[in-house]
Amino acid sequence: MMGKFTVWIVLAGVAWLGWTLWRIGRRRAESAASPPPAESDSARPQAQGTDAAAGESPPEPILSCAHCGLYLPARDAVAGARGASYCSTAHRDLTEQAPRGPSSSR
Ligand SMILES: [Zn+2]
Repeated sequence: MMGKFTVWIVLAGVAWLGWTLWRIGRRRAESAASPPPAESDSARPQAQGTDAAAGESPPEPILSCAHCGLYLPARDAVAGARGASYCSTAHRDLTEQAPRGPSSSR
């Protein structure tokens, strides 16, 4: 009596386990088939990319030093007052302190 009941429980557990494993395997097979193959994509890079020939780096703005007029990329520029840009902090100090410097009021 009791042994038969246990056998049914075990059978049910085995059936559930097998069903779960089958679902996982099927889901894995579907997910493995759904993404496009990356190897063929890298095999023929940019076959139809004519307008995308600009490259990787975005256009970097070029600024000119307000003191000496040197052109330099915006990332290397030193930001000054009123949106001015300078090639170095020395030129920024020279330019921004020169008009302001009426320290000799007398
Ligand atoms: Zn400069």
